[in-house]
Amino acid sequence: MDNESTTNFVCKLCGQEFDNKEMSEEHYPARSTGNEDIVSLDIVKMIDSIMSGEIHNEILRRSTKGEEISDISENIFDTQLSKSLYPDGRTSRTLCKECNTFLGKYDEAYLKFFNVDGNPKIVKGFQQITKLEIIKAIYAKFLSLPESVDEKFDFLEFIKNKNMTTYNGIWKLYFVKRDFSSDLLGMKDIGTGKVVFDEGVVYEMSDDKFIFNLMNFEIHSCFNMTSIFDILKKNYTIIEGVGENGGYHAQILMSKLFSEFSEE
Ligand SMILES: [Zn+2]
Repeated sequence: MDNESTTNFVCKLCGQEFDNKEMSEEHYPARSTGNEDIVSLDIVKMIDSIMSGEIHNEILRRSTKGEEISDISENIFDTQLSKSLYPDGRTSRTLCKECNTFLGKYDEAYLKFFNVDGNPKIVKGFQQITKLEIIKAIYAKFLSLPESVDEKFDFLEFIKNKNMTTYNGIWKLYFVKRDFSSDLLGMKDIGTGKVVFDEGVVYEMSDDKFIFNLMNFEIHSCFNMTSIFDILKKNYTIIEGVGENGGYHAQILMSKLFSEFSEE
């Protein structure tokens, strides 16, 4: 039976039904957010390699031959521990072409934020409407997460309405800038994830520079992150890294690990 031709997709933004060819093929994280050369970390392989000492031996062997440690680990990451997400990477059909085109405008705003590393001194010079587009772009990214397929979000109107300046729903959005503490062994795990607490659910979406968490409860006081709405203020501080406890990022990494191992 050919299910492909009969399956209708519901666009996560406008809620209308479309058949396959009217949906847009989304890559996540989106290429339009500056991730041209994205890779996803092969977690299982990484853990195996570290446990076996394989990597340590290779680094040692190559560094005695005069290679820089950072070059070696980057090379190992590129050649052994990562799998290219493109062109056959993870894609989803969550948005219709029209909504995807509409969100493209927001992505342009996000790219401005991304290109200046979210620097408050520069971002404060952006127009207010651009700052709102940045916020909406990030909220919108969570619609296309594979982990959030069944979630009903209350910020669709906020995204769809270009003129809406406030959002009073239950979903909070926080972010940190990546640093060494967020990147296991300095390797970036770029991707998506989900972790469930008694209080609610946390989704994660990250790119080369930032880690974003969307959650439907008040952030745990032990985790230090910047609220995305802070960028509307005259001044704000971007938290760098996930701190010693690893933040939600570590929790999500752990739960991914756990599910990858239990799938085998
Ligand atoms: Zn749509």
